[in-house]
Amino acid sequence: MVSRNLPPSTSPYAIPVFDLMHRPGEMREKVLDIVVPEAFGNAVIGVPLGAPMHVDVRLESLHDGILVSADIDVTAIGECVRCLIEVEQQLEVDLQELFAYSNDEAFDYEVENDSVDLEPVIRDAIVLALPFQPVCREECPGLCPQCGVRFLDDPGHGHEAAVDPRWAVLAGLEGLTAPSPSDAIRANATDLNATDLNATDLSATDLNATDPHAVNPDATASGADVVGADHHGATEEKR
Ligand SMILES: [Zn+2]
Ligand SMILES: [Zn+2]
Repeated sequence: MVSRNLPPSTSPYAIPVFDLMHRPGEMREKVLDIVVPEAFGNAVIGVPLGAPMHVDVRLESLHDGILVSADIDVTAIGECVRCLIEVEQQLEVDLQELFAYSNDEAFDYEVENDSVDLEPVIRDAIVLALPFQPVCREECPGLCPQCGVRFLDDPGHGHEAAVDPRWAVLAGLEGLTAPSPSDAIRANATDLNATDLNATDLSATDLNATDPHAVNPDATASGADVVGADHHGATEEKR
C-alpha cells in the first residue's frame, strides 16, 4: 500500500499498531488525552476547538486487522434551543470498530501507515450521541415572545393583555373633550386609516355615536358643511 511509505501520522487521534500487526491474540491498552484540534458537532451543539477529550482504547490483533474498542469522555457545548443560554453536556460514548489490513470495500476502516486513525470513528460516534434539541433543563419555559426575557431569570414575568385595536379607537375618542362635530368626524377618519377598520364598521358605530345632531344641535350647519364638502370631493373625482 502506498500509505506504508508515509511518515508516522501526527494526528492526536492516531495510534501506531505496528507491534500488534499480524500477531493474532496480542492485545494492548492505550489512553489518549486529546486537545481537540478541530471543532465538530451539529448545528446547535458540538465539541469545541481545544476541548479536552479522554479516550480509553483497547487494541486487539485479529487475523483480519486490529479491533479497536474505545470509551470516550468529552464535554459538548451548545445552546438551549428554547432560551438560548449556553449548555454543557457530558458525553460518555463507547465504540468498537475493526481496522482491516486489506483495503477491501467490505471494511469501512483500514490500518494505514502502520497506524489506526480513530478520528472519523470517534467523531461519528460523538455526533450520533449529540442531542438535536439541547435544553438547559427539561422544563425550560424559553423566552417571553413579547419582550425576549428568559422566563427562568424572571419568575412571574408577564404583560398586560393586549388591547383589541377596535377598542383602542373608542379609547382615543374618550380623550377628546367637547369635540365639535367636524373635529370628531375628522378624528374618526384618522382613526379609521390608522386601524384598518372598514367603512361599514365606521358608519355603523363611530359616526352614529358622534352624530352632530345628537351631540350639539347648534352644530347642524357645520356638520352639513362637512358632508357637503365630502360630496363635492366625490363629484369632482368622477369628472
Ligand atoms: Zn433553556
Ligand atoms: Zn415579556
